[in-house]
Amino acid sequence: MEAPNDTILYTDPLYSLLTFDRSVNICSAGHICHGAPQSYGTAPIRFECTMCNILNTSRKHNKQQIVLVSNTYIDGDRNFEATCDKNHRFIINESTAHFGCRVCYALSTAMSKYNSKLIAYTHCLYIHENSHIRLQCKNIIHNPNCENVLCKQLSRSPTLTIRKYAANCNNFIACNMDFYASSHQLKYNPAVLNCNEHHIPPSQSAIVATKRAFEVLFGTRFDDNMFGIHGPTGAGIEFTGYNKSMGVAFTHLSDKIPRKCCLVAQKWCFTNEVAFIIIPEDIVRSKDIDRVIIDKLSALELIAQPQYAYQRLRHNLHYMNSTHQLFPSINNDSQLHAT
Ligand SMILES: [Zn+2]
Ligand SMILES: [Zn+2]
Ligand SMILES: [Zn+2]
Ligand SMILES: [Zn+2]
Repeated sequence: MEAPNDTILYTDPLYSLLTFDRSVNICSAGHICHGAPQSYGTAPIRFECTMCNILNTSRKHNKQQIVLVSNTYIDGDRNFEATCDKNHRFIINESTAHFGCRVCYALSTAMSKYNSKLIAYTHCLYIHENSHIRLQCKNIIHNPNCENVLCKQLSRSPTLTIRKYAANCNNFIACNMDFYASSHQLKYNPAVLNCNEHHIPPSQSAIVATKRAFEVLFGTRFDDNMFGIHGPTGAGIEFTGYNKSMGVAFTHLSDKIPRKCCLVAQKWCFTNEVAFIIIPEDIVRSKDIDRVIIDKLSALELIAQPQYAYQRLRHNLHYMNSTHQLFPSINNDSQLHAT
């Protein structure tokens, strides 16, 4: 049931109850904190619940409701996973709480700035500014495979606008292109929203080429969420792409992943028997990236017949780029807690 007005939604951030033992505390909103500051003597020390503060700050600045995925945290854990009413998943802490849902924020900025129609895949976890949000473009474009003779003549010129076709054709379709963009790119880089440019900003082409190569090679998406928000040392585990059921993760080193997160990821992959493919920063051309990936997968005995695999990959990538399709399964995208 919706609360009648937002004043009722505010929760008391003060822990009111000390339960079980002195290291387990529950606030009035039912958030459980393990290992929080303890009370000494008879008078309990009143301290604030970080979760309540985050929710209150978010409500103060945004109309949209956000919900924390878990009501439990460990003292000192500052980051929490949250969802918005569109089921986007994102990491929130006290310093980012005023944004509310970061995915909604990024999308609305892009839409108001460039008038683009976008859908974000809801199972992808937004971690920080440089996280790649997986998106699908819903702009209307002229069908790239249009058979109209006049259109075929026109299409020799690559940068035609939809208006140029409109007079003699009604073969328009949704772009439906899957692509990745950081919130920074959605805000400042019009190239990422441009259907004619395949939604690849020049600076990201190596990362996108890497992601596409893996997805085409294995025939499945590589956008599973990371193992957890934090590794054992507190640094997050981050990859450029990861597929849990395949047991394969990869990182292109030009991706803006903090070095410590990359190191933690490497260790985690080793102990969990996940194949971790690292593509060096200076390998940037699509052909070279594909070659490195094939060589490494072949060395790990994950693919046989490397030369054949390479040719098939190149062919399928080419096909995918011309049809604008990656893995357009946005309707099956309702798994909220996929881990
Ligand atoms: Zn609380
Ligand atoms: Zn959202
Ligand atoms: Zn046409
Ligand atoms: Zn598009």
